[in-house]
Amino acid sequence: MSAIEVVEPATAEVMAEVPRGDADDVDAAVARAKEAFGEWRAVTPEDRSALMHALADAVDERREELATLEARNAGKPIGDARGEIGMVVETFRYYAAAPQRLLGDTIPVAGGVDMTFREPLGVVGMIVPWNFPLTIACWKVAPALAAGNTIVLKPAALTPLTALELEKIAVQAGLAEGVLNVVAGPGSVCGQRLVEHPDVAKVAFTGSTEVGRGIAAAAAQTIKRVTLELGGKSANVVFADADLEAAAVAAPGAVFGNAGQDCCARSRILVERSALDQFMGHLEGAVKGMSVGDPLADETEMGPLISADQLETVGSYLDDEAPVAFRGSAPDGPGFWFAPTVLCPVSNDDRQAREEIFGPIASVIPFEGEEEAIAIANDTPYGLSGSVWTRDGAKALRAARAIETGVMSINSNTSVRVSTPFGGFKQSGVGRELGPHALDHYTEVKNVYYATEGS
Ligand code: NDP
Repeated sequence: MSAIEVVEPATAEVMAEVPRGDADDVDAAVARAKEAFGEWRAVTPEDRSALMHALADAVDERREELATLEARNAGKPIGDARGEIGMVVETFRYYAAAPQRLLGDTIPVAGGVDMTFREPLGVVGMIVPWNFPLTIACWKVAPALAAGNTIVLKPAALTPLTALELEKIAVQAGLAEGVLNVVAGPGSVCGQRLVEHPDVAKVAFTGSTEVGRGIAAAAAQTIKRVTLELGGKSANVVFADADLEAAAVAAPGAVFGNAGQDCCARSRILVERSALDQFMGHLEGAVKGMSVGDPLADETEMGPLISADQLETVGSYLDDEAPVAFRGSAPDGPGFWFAPTVLCPVSNDDRQAREEIFGPIASVIPFEGEEEAIAIANDTPYGLSGSVWTRDGAKALRAARAIETGVMSINSNTSVRVSTPFGGFKQSGVGRELGPHALDHYTEVKNVYYATEGS
C-alpha cells in the first residue's frame, strides 16, 4: 500500500506518513459499518448517550495533543485549534442528549392509533475538507451516532491525522469496532466509492461547490440522501450609522481567520459610501496589527495557507489590476505564507468579488443606502453566512431577513454555534448541520398505523 505524505504548511516539510486508502479499503470499511449497524442501533438510548459522553471525555483528555496536531497539519493558530477541539467535545456532549429525545408524533386518525418513529439511516459516508478537519467531521459524526447510524469517514488527504486518531479514541471510549471507520485516501477514489457504494445510505459532504455538484449527481444513481455544505462569498454589510470602529476591528477576524480558508469568510465587506474613509482608517490599523506567523505561538492570529497549490490559486487573484488598499505582514522563508490583503474599491462584478478565493483577500465594495446593500449582498450564487452592522434595529432586522443566506449575525460576525443550525441557501448547500436540525438529516421518519377497531 502506498503512503500519503502529510505536509506541515508552516515549514513545507513532511510531518507524517499514513497509509493511502483505496476503493477496496472503502468497501471493507462499509462492510464493517454495515455489520456493526444492527448492534449500534439496538444500544439503549441511555447507554448510547453514556457512550457519547465517554467519547467527549476521551477527546477532552487529549485536547492539547489533538489541538497541536491540528495546528501543525492545517497550519492554523494554536489558539484556534484549541477552540476547535473544544468544540468537538461540546458537539459530542450536545448530541449525547439526543438519543433520549428522538421523539415521534401521534396523529389522530380513524380506526386506530398512528405514530411516527425517527429511524436511523444505516451506514453514513462522510467526506470532509482540510480547513477545519476534526471539527467539521464531528458536526456530522456526533448527530449520526446519536441517531443510531454507523459511519465511514473520509478526511481530506491533506489533513487526515486527527480523524485517524478519532477512530482509535472511539474504540478506547467503548464504541464497538466498526461503528466509526476512517479511510484516508484521495477524494476521486475513496470519496467517489463512498458516493457510489450501494450499502451507503447517505453522504454528508463539506467542500467545494464544484465537487459537491458532482456528489449530488452521483448520489442520485442510488437515491442516496445527501447533505452538502459548500462554498460561500458572504457579505459583511456596514451601514454608516454603525459603530464603525467595532465593525472595522471585527472585520479582519471574519475574513482572515483560518487564513481566509473558511466557507463562512465574510470576504465581501460592503461599506456605505459616506462612512468609507472612516471605516478604512480603522480597518487598516486592525489588519496591519494582525500577528501572522508560527501556528504554535500563542500570539499568532493567522498562519500559512494549506498548500503550495492553494498559495498559487490565491496569488492569482492579486494581479496587476487588483486595487490593493493595504496589506498586513507575513513571514519570509519556507511555508505557504500570504499576507492579509484588502482591496478597495472593488465592484461586485470583479472576479475577486464573485469567486470564493479561500485565502486572505478581502474586497471592500462601497454602496449607497439599504436597497443597494441588499441587492449587492444577494448578487452571488452563494448564500452561507453574513453580517449587518447598524445601530438602527429595524433596519438590521430588515436586512437580516432580506439577505439570502443561511446564517446571519447583527453587530457580530458569529457563524457557528453547536446549538444553532448552520448551512447554506442557494449554491452554498443543502441541509443543516448542528443544533436540533441536524438530527433530521440522520433519521428517516417512519409512520406506523395500528388498527384498534378491526382492520
Ligand atoms: P474539495 O471539494 O476538492 O475537497 C473536499 C473533500 O472532497 C476532500 O475530502 C476531497 O478529498 C473530497 N473529494 C474531492 N473530489 C472528490 C470526488 N470526486 N468525489 C468525492 N469526494 C471528493 O476541496 P479542495 O480541498 O480541493 O479545495 C478547493 C476549493 O474548494 C477551495 O479553494 C475552496 O474554494 C473550496 N472549499 C470549500 C470548503 C468549505 O468549507 N466549504 C472546504 C474546502 C474547500 P481529497 O482532498 O482527499 O482528494
